[in-house]
Amino acid sequence: MVLLVSLFLFSSTLAASGPVLAVFAHPDDESATIAPLLSRYAKEGHDVYLIVVTSGQVGDSNTDIPRGDQLGAAREKESRCSCKALGIHDPYLLQFMDGSIAEWDTMPNIREQVRKIIEEVKPEVIITFGPDGLTGHPDHRTVSNLTTEIFQQRSKLIHRPSKLYYVAYPESLFANLPPEMAQSAGRIGLVADEWVTTVVDASAYLDQAWNSIQCHKTQWPPQMMEMIRGLGSELLGGKVYLRLALQDGAGRVEKEVDLFD
Ligand SMILES: [Zn+2]
Repeated sequence: MVLLVSLFLFSSTLAASGPVLAVFAHPDDESATIAPLLSRYAKEGHDVYLIVVTSGQVGDSNTDIPRGDQLGAAREKESRCSCKALGIHDPYLLQFMDGSIAEWDTMPNIREQVRKIIEEVKPEVIITFGPDGLTGHPDHRTVSNLTTEIFQQRSKLIHRPSKLYYVAYPESLFANLPPEMAQSAGRIGLVADEWVTTVVDASAYLDQAWNSIQCHKTQWPPQMMEMIRGLGSELLGGKVYLRLALQDGAGRVEKEVDLFD
């Protein structure tokens, strides 16, 4: 498969030390996106944490398990299985209701819980969805929104993380998808290549990612698991693409006095 290799002006790795926190909406979001990256940083000695905001109670069910609390409980198990496969800490399972987190009464509650976990695990780096939620799912968008809001409300945090990254699949990589992938990947929200700041080579951790994918048995039939594996290993080549959304400290943009300087 032909991949465009000279995409980026900037390519960097994550901060050299400190905990990593991923914030996602459903059990399985991490597997389909940044699984090999999480495994790599855990293996390199970082504390790596995952917050899963809902239990995925109304997700797909490829089993006899009925949607609702029972499916949620099964998916919580799948999330723990995935974290174990990736060698990261047990997930923080916030157990909000799948599909309904963008509610006035719910969002402050989620925000407080995520904020509390940030104070507890003191991440240097946080990774979440971009504003498109990658698939457009309202829960994904809400998690992106709340995580960004927490990051930018720095005065409310005792521990202040250094960097906030968004999952960002570059447009060029998806321009010539083989037909078997194109259909499944058709809903992915792509990011213009010039906004993708960070490419982490996690190709040595595709086995761990595959084990993580296989945990989510209620969600993906074998064929779908293979498709997700192919996307990560063949299309992306074991690289994880991110966009640095907000950052603190060295390297941040100097203060400007004119929008058009
Ligand atoms: Zn999801």
